Amino acid sequence: MKQFAVILAVLIASSATAAELLVEAESFSKRGGWTVDPQFMDVMGSPYLLAHGLGKPVADAEQLVEFPQPGVYRLWVRTKDWVPSHHPGRFQVTIDGRTIDETFGTEGEDWFWHDGKTVEISGDTATIKLHDLTGFDGRCDALFFTTDMDFRPSNEPDSRMAAWRRKLVGIPETPPSIGNFDVLVAGGGVAGCSAALVAARLGLRVALVQNRPVLGGNASSEIDIPPRGLARSVTDEVAGSERAGVIAAEKNIELLLGWHAFRVQKEGARIISVDAKNVSTNKEVRINAPVIIDCTGDGWIGFRAGAEYRMGREGRSEFDEPLAPETADKMTHGCTLYFKTREGDKPTKFPDAPWATVVSRSHVDLRSDHSWEYGHRLDTIKDAEHIRDHLLRAIYGTFATVKRKFPKGAAKFELEQVGYVAARGESRRLVGDHILTENDIRSKRRFPDMVAMGSLVFCLHYPGKKYDFRNEMKLIAVPPYPIPFRCLYSRNIENLMMAGRDVSATHVAFSSVKLMKTGGQLGIATGAAAFLCKKHNTMPRGVYQHHIPELQDIVFERGSYKESLKPSRSRE
Ligand SMILES: Cc1cc2nc3c(=O)[nH]c(=O)nc-3n(C[C@H](O)[C@H](O)[C@H](O)COP(=O)(O)OP(=O)(O)OC[C@H]3O[C@@H](n4cnc5c(N)ncnc54)[C@H](O)[C@@H]3O)c2cc1C
Repeated sequence: MKQFAVILAVLIASSATAAELLVEAESFSKRGGWTVDPQFMDVMGSPYLLAHGLGKPVADAEQLVEFPQPGVYRLWVRTKDWVPSHHPGRFQVTIDGRTIDETFGTEGEDWFWHDGKTVEISGDTATIKLHDLTGFDGRCDALFFTTDMDFRPSNEPDSRMAAWRRKLVGIPETPPSIGNFDVLVAGGGVAGCSAALVAARLGLRVALVQNRPVLGGNASSEIDIPPRGLARSVTDEVAGSERAGVIAAEKNIELLLGWHAFRVQKEGARIISVDAKNVSTNKEVRINAPVIIDCTGDGWIGFRAGAEYRMGREGRSEFDEPLAPETADKMTHGCTLYFKTREGDKPTKFPDAPWATVVSRSHVDLRSDHSWEYGHRLDTIKDAEHIRDHLLRAIYGTFATVKRKFPKGAAKFELEQVGYVAARGESRRLVGDHILTENDIRSKRRFPDMVAMGSLVFCLHYPGKKYDFRNEMKLIAVPPYPIPFRCLYSRNIENLMMAGRDVSATHVAFSSVKLMKTGGQLGIATGAAAFLCKKHNTMPRGVYQHHIPELQDIVFERGSYKESLKPSRSRE
């Protein structure tokens, strides 16, 4: 132990005197054809650059960087070989035009610092380029240069790595506050947009934090799942492609687009602020709000705050649900990836992709619908990157097989678009004062605090029997049924509400509530409840206990609230 302490002290001392530079790949000012991918940052530690070229190498990403001093540095590149036995995502690093000998994306089964060996930096600045070799989703998170030849960065994506990186790029531990809001909405899917819109139209100052460059969640242009379910007018405004304009028109909404809510501060059982990180610049800000609405789909805010949640399927006996399995397990809905093919003008080739056909096998059906789904038996949060990658392999593999098997018929066939953002089907469901069940839905149970109407189906997803990336579904029609407000606030975090697929429901009930227009209605109810929290100086449970008639007046646009959900502009 003593010897270990001495070695550690030497390492710290030597790295303290070393010249060091951390370059975050996602912060490159010229990204060429590389794309910022922040989807997995809560698991692997950071947004990263992805060379998503559908089999054609993408243009170089480039950044001019300033070094602390000229000299010989050891270079470490944080990367991942996403199919370890085949290395489909290979790339090179060049510094001032010289290519580093190492090829990256060729080692390691998970994210790790690949040793780029020594590099000589002759001036104060150098131009770094990432040069993609394959077009098949090579990935680079960061480059670390150090004059300490013995230093090895830790591969553990834990809080120590985060603190180390923050220090190296000069981001303060405590982010600056961007002010006090009346409500913070995290997640800009249909549910989050509806919540923000209603709160803003009722006069609240709203912070809407969305970690993608576009709004809409699974309904966005990145994913394109059609929103279904019963809608109210606000939901319809944000269910379609006009949603960006609708949100922009509300002056009470401060939209943080491309910001990821990653940390919360609490006092007792209340969240007092949420920290958000810009997924490109890594800049961080603090947002203070007395009420928070978690519309992240994954219950991230609740999870960070220690809210109770469920994940997986309940056993049949727990709520006496006929559709539940005999015993509880971890199975969830899977995830899907959107893609499009087209007939081009001339014959094109597609690279052989044995690392992909090993997943797709004999599959040749290239119809793009949302029955491409994987991950039901995995953890849709912790294994999210693997799930997305498996779907990429299934799509590329199927396309490669079609090209090979039908050389004439598919000669001009091209992959027009393949998403890299997987639509998550299900993960955490935050627990509220009521957990909606299959029997509540089947019996159309009347709730005095009813604030929304679910509809259409129980839609249970299972892994396909022949191909693990195609789903099977069980659809059981249900008549419209009430959803109570008690499913929309956390049982143990006083000022936390939720809307969308992370509300309080069993797995079976969730399979119906998950529809996006239903989620939009839940967003409306939470946005309205945030308004009542401010008006009556109370918390969501207080709204349930004392203000349900008023909440219902707003949600169902009755009495003096008839006009209040209309666009602010039309009321001016
Ligand atoms: C295969 C499949 C088929 C489906 N088919 C249909 C269908 O036909 N019709 C239908 O209505 N529904 C369908 N669904 C269900 C539906 O897509 C989801 O239940 C729905 O998207 C949930 O909406 P949401 O707003 O809660 O979450 P999302 O749509 O996931 O939106 C949440 C948003 O929050 C963002 N976010 C997450 N974490 C953070 C954070 N920490 N900080 C900031 N932003 C964050 C996400 O990037 C995302 O954009 C399907 C789902 C799957 C998987």
